[in-house]
Amino acid sequence: MKTILSLSSWPLIFFSGLLLTCFAFASERPMLGFALVYAGEVLLLLLLERHIPYERRWLLPDGETANSIAHTLLTKGLVQLLALLGAIFPMLAAMVLQPLAGARFDLWPAALPMFLQVAMAVVIAELGLYWSHRIAHERLFFWRFHALHHSVVRLWVINTGRFHIADSLFKVALSQIPLYLMGAPLQVFWWLGAVTAFMGILTHCNVDMRTGVFDYIFSTPRLHRWHHSKDIREGNTNYGENVVVFDLLFGTYFNPDRPSSTDIGIRGEIAKGFLGQLAQPFSKEGVRQILGRSTKNG
Ligand SMILES: [Zn+2]
Ligand SMILES: [Zn+2]
Repeated sequence: MKTILSLSSWPLIFFSGLLLTCFAFASERPMLGFALVYAGEVLLLLLLERHIPYERRWLLPDGETANSIAHTLLTKGLVQLLALLGAIFPMLAAMVLQPLAGARFDLWPAALPMFLQVAMAVVIAELGLYWSHRIAHERLFFWRFHALHHSVVRLWVINTGRFHIADSLFKVALSQIPLYLMGAPLQVFWWLGAVTAFMGILTHCNVDMRTGVFDYIFSTPRLHRWHHSKDIREGNTNYGENVVVFDLLFGTYFNPDRPSSTDIGIRGEIAKGFLGQLAQPFSKEGVRQILGRSTKNG
């Protein structure tokens, strides 16, 4: 039973999420529908984490749950609440910016079936996601913001949206601007948001999923666990957020034939409270702590 679950849970959650999103987007309340589908998939993953965890230790509280949820609400939900639309942040940004920029260049193949348009958007957005993520790891200036995401020592669904707001904005900008300029329609942005949302909860969940051939197409939990490894030879790999095409292309794909690392986290230290975490990258001492070079701790 456990084997069947671990083989089927990734495709089941991803593809059922997309299928139900089809109904949501076709309904009168597309964003509300999507939010319900998303919440359902999160619940399902939380149950699977209890039932077939990848790492039992990660089921124990680490004191960061409230902070992770707060960062998620800020980066993905604040804008949503303000607008009362139920859209996650990238979708909303797209709604505001798309009509302004979209019509400039008429490069988008809007006549193609929606499925192909979405696949194309996922790959085009991935180029920005890949490079913003890789830069965030390879350049100290950007790492100071991204370290928050990597500072946790357990992986589970709740960590999915734990990003510094500056890190999120950088990522959304690099990934979505090419699509605005090409004139991609709003629905394509909705779908891109949906794919990214499902992929995100899957890559961070603590469920023992066997993903096999999917590891060569999508960013799977297995690949993303390597990315969270404390050892940077393992961690500075697998930058793909949705698909792994650019990791394969630019030589950062990492998928050795052994169970992926459970020793995750960063060398430095992240501030304790939510506001402290938001402010930390903006002070010299804060950055030193992030890098593990704090003068206070010697
Ligand atoms: Zn990262
Ligand atoms: Zn992650």
